[in-house]
Amino acid sequence: MKVSFAGGVDHVGSLGMIAESGDTRLLFDYGLTPAKPPRYPMKVPHVDSLFITHSHLDHVGMSPWLSGEYGSTIWGTEVTLEVSVVLLQDSLKIARIENFPIPFDISDVRRFTEESTILRYGERPFVGPFTIRTMDAGHIPGSTMYRIDDGGNDVVFTGDINTVDTRLLKGASPPKCHTLVMESTYAGRSHPPRKEVEKSFLAKVEEVLDRGGKVIIPAFAVGRTQEIVQVLNRIDEDKWLDGMGRRVAQIYLRHGEFIDSPGALKKALDGFSFVRTPYQREKAADAPIVVTTSGMLDGGPVLEYIRRHKDDRKTAILLTGYQVEDTNGRMLMETGSLDLQGEIEPVKCEVCHFDFSAHPDHKGLVSFAERAQPDEVILVHGDNREKLAEDIRSFAKVHTPCLQDTFEY
Ligand SMILES: [Zn+2]
Ligand SMILES: [Zn+2]
Repeated sequence: MKVSFAGGVDHVGSLGMIAESGDTRLLFDYGLTPAKPPRYPMKVPHVDSLFITHSHLDHVGMSPWLSGEYGSTIWGTEVTLEVSVVLLQDSLKIARIENFPIPFDISDVRRFTEESTILRYGERPFVGPFTIRTMDAGHIPGSTMYRIDDGGNDVVFTGDINTVDTRLLKGASPPKCHTLVMESTYAGRSHPPRKEVEKSFLAKVEEVLDRGGKVIIPAFAVGRTQEIVQVLNRIDEDKWLDGMGRRVAQIYLRHGEFIDSPGALKKALDGFSFVRTPYQREKAADAPIVVTTSGMLDGGPVLEYIRRHKDDRKTAILLTGYQVEDTNGRMLMETGSLDLQGEIEPVKCEVCHFDFSAHPDHKGLVSFAERAQPDEVILVHGDNREKLAEDIRSFAKVHTPCLQDTFEY
């Protein structure tokens, strides 16, 4: 098979990998790069099928274009497909509000749904000469790694992975393979242990509440919100959940087989009030704790909460995820200012970042690759791949491709 890329090799965004054999061309992920406005990957030639690893926009954000253009079959787990549609509809809404260009419309999203085929973990669909095998990637509910085999050497495409257990999921096990195409989001960086992150996060929440401040917690709608809600279960205060994370939580509860403990998520959600109306948003704005989207502060209800409290030094904004370059969240971390409806304004609240990552750190990535016992490793989806390549070179041949590179297996 021939392997090449449509985007996302050297940064966290716009990921797409093409596998070709005979007349069959498959695509694995087709995402956008989150920024204002979002950036999209190159348009690919006709593909028969798209296999989605998980429902984050950097892996799925361009896929409706493919549906509209080629009517390609879209494969993914049930929860991945369902959550993806929610995010894609939201992308259209944001593009309309912000006047961003977007390469697809609502009829393409409809086509995406019509052409969707559900995969279960362990299933082995055939497409042309390819056999594809699905495995749990441990990153967010429904996330999948794909083993791709056309009778030659097999290739595993990880999408995003996580190797440590979180409140939502168990970490992934590395699959043995000839070639491992692995994400490198946290190459060169390390995470503190999860338990310590949770502990310091809860300590900060309590400190802010004790001094009479409000706790504003921006969280990604997909995965992070549901985890944070569970971490906050211990805090007995008036807690509110606003934005898309609530809808995604309901999808997770409907597909309880994709999370570790649906009972724990349900119980944690029962401790929150939900914002559904402007009146409820008023109440949430005055409440001690609000968890809301967007996680990188590029839109969503979070900006309204920050706008109201931005001059209050007792209030804290607790960032719970990676802040990609060129996002509002990164600007807040680096400059203390935020783009609030087109105006750059200073924010006087305390700003803290907690490393609730859903990815392995540098050591975790090296160990994952080593345990897969590959002959070759192709590093993608990261901006610090050289450092990682150095540490993997001792046990496998490593590639850090650019977009023009192709590989034969
Ligand atoms: Zn992801
Ligand atoms: Zn990703």
